[in-house]
Amino acid sequence: MSQGRPEDDLTRFCCLNEACPDHGKRGAGNLTAPMRYGPQRRRLLRCRTCRARFSQRKGTPLLGTRLPHERALAVLRHLADGCGVRQTGRLVGVDKDTVVRYGLKAGGHAARLHDELVAFSPQDDEGAAG
Ligand SMILES: [Zn+2]
Repeated sequence: MSQGRPEDDLTRFCCLNEACPDHGKRGAGNLTAPMRYGPQRRRLLRCRTCRARFSQRKGTPLLGTRLPHERALAVLRHLADGCGVRQTGRLVGVDKDTVVRYGLKAGGHAARLHDELVAFSPQDDEGAAG
């Protein structure tokens, strides 16, 4: 029952239910991986303490860096304007690493991605003769 395969190491994960007594405790032994899902065979984790279920992916720190839409837009806007990573982080008020992450996600096409995002809001300087 409790034979541990290396790939089944659950100590990196913790319960994400804030109401759970074992919330945030890594390696507390409260997590099980009863099944897998999806093409990548990600694990569905389950907390024995509160019986909450969540995906393996949710347990990774990657999700913690997600910014609100507005902030993300601001980051991309600054990057598109040619601001450096440090400057962008300072102006928008986010961590430098987060800026890098978003910059990479945009894949050097920050300007285009920015245009796509802005397309949802009215733009009045388009076509205005300068
Ligand atoms: Zn729990």
